[in-house]
Amino acid sequence: MVDDYSALGFETRAIHAGQKPDPRTGAVIVPIYQTSTYAQDGVGGTREGDYEYSRTANPTRTALEQALAALEGARHTLAFASGMAASDAVLRTVLRPGDHLVLGNDAYGGTFRLIDKVLSLWGIEHTVADLSKIDEVRAAIRPETKLIWCESPTNPLLGVADIAALAGVAHDAGARLVVDNTFATPYLQTPLALGADIVVHSTTKYLGGHSDVVGGAVVTDEDDLREQLFYLRNAAGAVPGPFDAWLTLRGLKTLALRMERHSDNAELIAQTLAKHPKVSKVYYPGLPEHPGHEAAAKQMRRFGGMVSFRHADGEEAALQVASRTKLFILAESLGGIESLIEHPGRMTHASTAGSTLQVPADLLRLSVGIEDPRDLIADLNAALG
Ligand code: PLP
Repeated sequence: MVDDYSALGFETRAIHAGQKPDPRTGAVIVPIYQTSTYAQDGVGGTREGDYEYSRTANPTRTALEQALAALEGARHTLAFASGMAASDAVLRTVLRPGDHLVLGNDAYGGTFRLIDKVLSLWGIEHTVADLSKIDEVRAAIRPETKLIWCESPTNPLLGVADIAALAGVAHDAGARLVVDNTFATPYLQTPLALGADIVVHSTTKYLGGHSDVVGGAVVTDEDDLREQLFYLRNAAGAVPGPFDAWLTLRGLKTLALRMERHSDNAELIAQTLAKHPKVSKVYYPGLPEHPGHEAAAKQMRRFGGMVSFRHADGEEAALQVASRTKLFILAESLGGIESLIEHPGRMTHASTAGSTLQVPADLLRLSVGIEDPRDLIADLNAALG
């Protein structure tokens, strides 16, 4: 059995790291340890590393954590019940009343809501900035700034931040850089290697990959931070169940194959939409005219499966397209094998209405699946009319 996976390729790590055959039965696939508690050797006799209660630790979850850590090239991963639970744990572990964070102006609506509506009640302040503009980020930093919270590519405008440059700004200010790596996944981008301190994931998306499980994860190299996050997770209890951990682990095994195909299909669709007369603008970091193309090419292996575009005839026309597609399913979320379409202004990003986050009303977001791209393009052409 291999003990050190770090020198092995991504696909090998996805299938083997943390996933040795079960020592008792030889089961090749890590079992779903569907148990809440574990027999102990004697009162107080649990050995370090042994399991005692599944809120604290569960072997299926441990396998998922080890596999994802290996994919991010990190020392530690902690799995959570959802992406928001993971983000919440990072925010509540790192920030205290009086602290301040800088948040991207195009962050996921739920992240913005948590920071703007919930953390603010505890005296934590934030400034929204365009993270692709390093001077704007520097100007937003205050003496109390403890975090820069970055998504790259962003949701839903596919903006790209230079992660290495942002890490430099954060560290100069004595702050940490968090990267929400949900859109890119570790197959396309490994933020810790670029200087980030913490990675968060909604594993609900590409990591699970099949739209059948909700989950989240936090990834870091810092031992102390891992202990603090572990403490909070155990104290607050936002853990994924064993079956959810198993489904996510199963998804990880095919991540590389899926991300290649998502990227192939999205590239074709972005190019097609860019030529369509009813489309006024396409947001895809793989297009050379995208303002973040150069930064994306530097830090990403490929450009991923998310494409957003604006309808030339405005919001009503965009809503019509979303209701007319037959293969692209009208639904929130992203990152599954099936293609989805949604209207961010009224759906995923409705919670940002009236805030400084600006989502155009004529914007549609596509999560491009792994179907035959010819069928997907025909579906979009028919819906655009
Ligand atoms: N981060 C990003 C970029 C997301 O798109 C989402 C959900 O859409 C989340 C975080 C939150 O994840 P979850 O829905 O698993 O709580």
